[in-house]
Amino acid sequence: MRRIPTLAIPCAGICLVLVAALVPAAEADQKLGPGHARYEVALRWHASRWTLDGSERISFENTRSHTIRAVWLRLWPNGQASCRRPLITVEIVSGGQAGPSAAACTARKVMLRRELTPGSRAAIRLRFSERVPLGNESYGHVPGGPALLGNALPILAVTDRTGTHLEPYSRLGEAAYSLTSSWRVKLDLRRGLTAATTGTQTGTGSPSSGLRRLRFAASKARDFELAIGRLHARTTKAGGVRIRFLDMLPRGSATSKLRREVLASARTTLLADEQRFGPYGAPELDIVQTPTIDAAGMEYPEIVFVEMTDSSAGADSWRKTAALTAHEIAHQWFYGLVGDNQWREPFLDESFATFVSGFPSHPCKPGHPLAGYPTSVRLTSTMGFFDHHPSDDYYGGLYGGGACALRDLRSGFGPVRFDAFLRHWVDTHRYGVATIPEFVSAIRAAAPSGFDVDGYLRASRL
Ligand SMILES: [Zn+2]
Repeated sequence: MRRIPTLAIPCAGICLVLVAALVPAAEADQKLGPGHARYEVALRWHASRWTLDGSERISFENTRSHTIRAVWLRLWPNGQASCRRPLITVEIVSGGQAGPSAAACTARKVMLRRELTPGSRAAIRLRFSERVPLGNESYGHVPGGPALLGNALPILAVTDRTGTHLEPYSRLGEAAYSLTSSWRVKLDLRRGLTAATTGTQTGTGSPSSGLRRLRFAASKARDFELAIGRLHARTTKAGGVRIRFLDMLPRGSATSKLRREVLASARTTLLADEQRFGPYGAPELDIVQTPTIDAAGMEYPEIVFVEMTDSSAGADSWRKTAALTAHEIAHQWFYGLVGDNQWREPFLDESFATFVSGFPSHPCKPGHPLAGYPTSVRLTSTMGFFDHHPSDDYYGGLYGGGACALRDLRSGFGPVRFDAFLRHWVDTHRYGVATIPEFVSAIRAAAPSGFDVDGYLRASRL
């Protein structure tokens, strides 16, 4: 939930006048691309200015069936800004030339130096500079908390059979859509600061006096996020996964209790989710405390941001804190491993994470998961719909109602068949991207005889 004011976004120069959500593909092509991307990123964090300078080399394969001449970058920080006063600016250094921007400057086309035939690789290099604004967004900073850099790094947009996806930023939910890639990131920052990130830290160095250089790697992640601050870290192990809790809380017994309880609860959740859906698939999970964040939590690959204070382990708030953390951990499977287009089909990540974490916060009427919501609210609704309707349609209808619809499916299938079905769903789409039509097909294929699939889909507005 991002309650920023609606911005009148002035378009200047080559900024497209209309938001182009999709650039049509030349011909129908079932394959997603560009794929098998490798990001090599060098970052420098300027703590006093809340700015990040970076360079990025992105190499990728044309995994589609046709020759391509351009790729698109997503520049999500500009979702909170305007084309006139962008939060991130990018310069293409080699491998291509900057083309037009689109989607209110959250997308930039790059014309490749050479056309790229199917199966071939190319690389572009770019430099960028960005400013993390004051505010409790997942790209922002608040007093007493770390700088949160969610969706901060330029990343390749996805092209599929319908075209290149340039969905707009979502004020209420998420809009990112990307393919699993490998990441090698080095980060220079002032001594005394540290970072929680996607992936794991692989080394440290000292590029100059007063500066530290941290190196990170993630072999299969669909994005790379960071949180930077004077972070205290405490860790535990869950099977082969190291869970780290990183916070900026004051010392004291309440903080110590919170650290213990967050790690214990996260460990239980992660092991239970692995039991249900298979391996977490990465060596580390970072849980980052922030004093306040809109919607109270945000998930990214191998890192989550969760709102907590040192009283969050108290009797009044622990239940909410534990449920929030469990919800964000569930997203590691339902968005992180089984990816989706979060703007077009938020059902596949939000409803699933709510169901998995056992947190339908509103009462369900069995067989009528969206009872009480206008008929326009559907589990197939996009963030384009939810961004322009009451927030309860999103949190109550999609999160709660969507979780209830999955509960109805479990009840119709029977728990054993349903649990195997969901495990198979994760196995089939692990590290890939899933769609609602594929989910509907999977329901049809797995439904027991006598289960009225069409009746279920109608009642669930799927
Ligand atoms: Zn969620």
